[in-house]
Amino acid sequence: MPAKVYLGLGSNLNSPPRQIRAALRAIAKLPGTQLVRCAPWYRSIAIGPGSQGRYINTVAEIDSVLKPRILLQALQQIEKQQGRKRIVRWGPRTLDIDILLYAHQTLNTQRLQIPHPRLGERNFVLRPLADIAPALTLPNGTPLAKLLANCSPEGIVRLSAGGSGGRTG
Ligand code: AMP
Repeated sequence: MPAKVYLGLGSNLNSPPRQIRAALRAIAKLPGTQLVRCAPWYRSIAIGPGSQGRYINTVAEIDSVLKPRILLQALQQIEKQQGRKRIVRWGPRTLDIDILLYAHQTLNTQRLQIPHPRLGERNFVLRPLADIAPALTLPNGTPLAKLLANCSPEGIVRLSAGGSGGRTG
């Protein structure tokens, strides 16, 4: 049985819309993985150091038979293929893909924490996630709607209506 997984995608370098579209295509091609839908896209202000370009952010819903660590490796490979260099933490990046939720699993290893540890603080993640899964509840029972209500709405602008099966932007 595939697991329902939500991925957060972000880019603020090298034509972010192109990066997000390429990432969605690559995600859809992962073995044992189906891209179910993509949330609307948002433009957000960078939260990292220095003056950085604004981000394009969205969330993808996938069904995947890949186990969490294998999926993380595959996603990091996609980041790498799209020229991501890990130079500065929270610095500008061509592509960032986070595993936000993996079915109802909780994982707390050094390499992988699920749900994503900063999920509740980031409106550019919560908003698109709520657009496609408004009734979602975290593994600890917290409704997504409650996290969203407690998160500042500042700094993001919705750009598009999203789509299914990778038709986006
Ligand atoms: P970042 O620079 O934000 O892409 O962080 C990447 C690092 O976060 C990687 O080394 C991952 O091992 C780690 N990590 C921990 N939990 C997650 C998660 N849920 N999704 C993606 N990366 C994660």
